[in-house]
Amino acid sequence: MTSTADDGDRRGAPAPGADRPVRVAVLGCGVVGTEVVRLLRTQAEDLAARTGARLELVGVAVRSLEAERDPVVDRDLLTTDAATLVEEADVVVELMGGIEPARGLLLRAIASGASVVTANKALLGTDGPTLYRAADAAGVDLYFEAAVAGAIPIVRPVRESLAGDRVTRVLGIVNGTTNYVLDQMASTGLDLDEAVKHAQELGYAEADPTADVEGHDAAAKAAILASLAFHTRVGIDDVHCEGITGLTAEDVAWANETGHVLKLLAIAERSGPDDGVVVRVHPALVPLTHPLASVRGAFNAVFVEAEAAGELMFYGRGAGGAPTASAVLGDLVTAARHRVLGGKGPVESSYAELPVHPIADAVTRYQVHLRVADRSGVLAQVAQVFAGHDVSIETVRQARAGAVGAGTADAEQAELLVVTHAATDAALAATVRDVGELPVVTHVLSVLRVEGV
Ligand code: NAP
Repeated sequence: MTSTADDGDRRGAPAPGADRPVRVAVLGCGVVGTEVVRLLRTQAEDLAARTGARLELVGVAVRSLEAERDPVVDRDLLTTDAATLVEEADVVVELMGGIEPARGLLLRAIASGASVVTANKALLGTDGPTLYRAADAAGVDLYFEAAVAGAIPIVRPVRESLAGDRVTRVLGIVNGTTNYVLDQMASTGLDLDEAVKHAQELGYAEADPTADVEGHDAAAKAAILASLAFHTRVGIDDVHCEGITGLTAEDVAWANETGHVLKLLAIAERSGPDDGVVVRVHPALVPLTHPLASVRGAFNAVFVEAEAAGELMFYGRGAGGAPTASAVLGDLVTAARHRVLGGKGPVESSYAELPVHPIADAVTRYQVHLRVADRSGVLAQVAQVFAGHDVSIETVRQARAGAVGAGTADAEQAELLVVTHAATDAALAATVRDVGELPVVTHVLSVLRVEGV
């Protein structure tokens, strides 16, 4: 770790400026941390000009001093003593991930007067309010642009640019791994396991892809976006979460057949009679005409609907070392500039305290795929169940069993694809339960929500 002439009690030291650099500590030197170090080094002149002071990297905390590192990282800066390092910096950048020790170190940094930047969605989604409270009490900045959708500027637009508007809905493809997997299934006909394996080979999916395919990563991001969009505290536990593991090649083929594409969506929206909020992550059919349908491969996009602004879409790379580092550096320059010129970033805005409702209160549409006995009167029985729950049917499509996808043709069986109008998720779920109990329905092949209509 380096030291400067005005080292010692940072609070007593003169403000950073022409004569004193902004001291930056980076916690973590993995995929993102390494690229942050690289940008700090290669862009030093420009960053200094934009900040009004040099950004001096005073240390990089890691677990292992022996591990192999990119040569861009000066080994003399490495330390395993993150707790001491955070107290020597004006801005601490946390890129370790996980809940602890990241939370403890950020709180320690804040308590010592440092502003903090983090990309840690898991921590923010689990315990963001604790960090906000601490930063507010200490009068320092807390920035986290990279925690949602990597390089895509979405936190700042929702938190600041739309502060004068009323956001009604946020629909996001915020997990590149699952988008890549679903895209592969749609374009090549691979089944889920094969597509995940392919994603792992290309480095788009972790060796253990659970957090991505089960939707947990997207749920953390959904909680962060919902909190910002609706000025209400929303934690991961408030988010209804379904991953993509139940999807089959046949679901994907049917989606294509009906003019849709399957996406894992994070949705935060106002819903219910009391203008509450529902936040959910699940696979959904998106019409090919919707802008989110064109988001291919590992890309991310967030579609925001606001009363005055109308529809906005933010698109780009949601992960990767360099793209994520771009978002981190944007936050770092802003926090550092405040150190030099004065000023402070936004604090938590949770004044609205909207009620957060369960998925049952979400208003959505379903596509229900049934295998039924191929005889007259079946459609009427099915329609009666829907009507009994006040769920109105928009379209019914009938096909020979196995007409699309991997199914086997069967002369005795037919397939019905029922698409509903909007209804509460509770009514739709009860309808599916009851329709599945009809003797003429041999199988409920799939139930998918339809979004973006
Ligand atoms: P990573 O490659 O696993 O790197 C983690 C780094 O943190 C490693 O250098 C590790 O040290 C260090 N570390 C972990 N625990 C530590 C501890 N207890 N004490 C000291 N150092 C410790 O992680 P990453 O992919 O860069 O992700 C970092 C953060 O960015 C996470 O919060 C992640 O969610 C977020 N993020 C990542 C991406 C992406 O594309 N990767 C995108 C958006 C957001 P060693 O090197 O010694 O093991």
